[in-house]
Amino acid sequence: METLRIGGVDCRSLADEFGTPLYVYDEAKIMKQADDAVLNFSSDKFDTEVVYASKAFSSVALFKLLAAQGIGFDVVSGGELYCAMKAGVGMDKVYFHGNNKSDQEIEMALDAGIGYFVIDNVMECNRLVGLAEKRKRSTKVLLRINPGISAHTHEYIMTSKPDSKFGIYIENKEHIYNVIDTLKESPYIRLAGFHSHIGSQIIDAESFEKALGTMIEFLAEMKRSKGLDNLELSIGGGFGIKYVAEDDPVPLGQMCANLVRYAEEALKKSGVTISKLITEPGRAMVGEAGYTIYTIGDMKKSGDKNYIFVDGGMSDNIRHALYDAEYTCVLPEKFSKESQISYCIAGKNCESGDILIADIMLPEAETGDLLTIYSTGAYGYSMASNYNRLGRPAVVFARDGKARLIIKRETYEDQYRLEV
Ligand code: PLP
Repeated sequence: METLRIGGVDCRSLADEFGTPLYVYDEAKIMKQADDAVLNFSSDKFDTEVVYASKAFSSVALFKLLAAQGIGFDVVSGGELYCAMKAGVGMDKVYFHGNNKSDQEIEMALDAGIGYFVIDNVMECNRLVGLAEKRKRSTKVLLRINPGISAHTHEYIMTSKPDSKFGIYIENKEHIYNVIDTLKESPYIRLAGFHSHIGSQIIDAESFEKALGTMIEFLAEMKRSKGLDNLELSIGGGFGIKYVAEDDPVPLGQMCANLVRYAEEALKKSGVTISKLITEPGRAMVGEAGYTIYTIGDMKKSGDKNYIFVDGGMSDNIRHALYDAEYTCVLPEKFSKESQISYCIAGKNCESGDILIADIMLPEAETGDLLTIYSTGAYGYSMASNYNRLGRPAVVFARDGKARLIIKRETYEDQYRLEV
């Protein structure tokens, strides 16, 4: 029988062994993305570093896999930093992002000896300087600049509007100079460079080139006004992936190569040099490698809609409910059957908005069939919740016909372990 295999393992075997709902990653696909990024993001003009934005999906097994490929880690909380520490990755390759880091998180990161803090605002800068002095710990800093580039993506994942909550707007020279001058005085903290990130699930290469061009002009201005040169520049992540047939993203490796070439040309024109170029793909590293397998339960017709109810929902994938994200799915054991019925795939959470796919043509479905959604590897598990006290599904890595459990399914008891 023709069926969907993930990492060489068919969906039914995965469901029988680990239960459903189940997140499954094709490990070889992750490694290929990592390899493609590292190989293509290189230059003989400056150093380069690929950093994985771990908000897309963090787990100890994944961190170990990526660290072995030479990749660094963007973390945005003590929890994500803890994952990096547990995985034993090199702390010099950890970048601590996020607005409103707590004192406790800053101290934890200073004590762990992380490579970089990516500062979001003036107050954070002052707190970091004070805490580093108190603990006598040195570290490097990138300052997050909002370059004001609007890319075509959903408003909730657009981070570069002038009034965005992230970073300091590029025109706000008062705050930018304030940070630069404060860091100049600090014996413990060195301003290594600047950072920008314009949003997520951006398909057009043009927005990234615009952001890079803007940031390089900004570096030229910092050279003129503040005498800063040969700094590091992070251009963030946000590279789009394929969710549905119409999505046609530039492959990650090619995007990386394009950005390096573009940076080389723009730097030459502007007469500035950089010591390192950094990129931070999250979604593009793991998104398409991930699948979610569900079991179909009840079905019903309501108005014009044919509902398929699956055994998970917005608690394991909130992206459709949150920002109308689209997905595609198959009935893996009915691969060769004709898709002739329009279905709405809904979850079992108690919300009308608990929809995973609003409308998709599938072969006739029956209770007990498996249903596999593609490209759920990013912002699926990492945004999962216990809404309605559903336990988070297990996570499996599959490769060369073998599957291994990397995160166990959450039991009822697990959910109540914190109650006193
Ligand atoms: N870097 C920063 C600073 C981000 O805020 C994000 C996502 O929000 C990323 C990288 C990763 O974005 P993506 O997963 O779309 O590549």
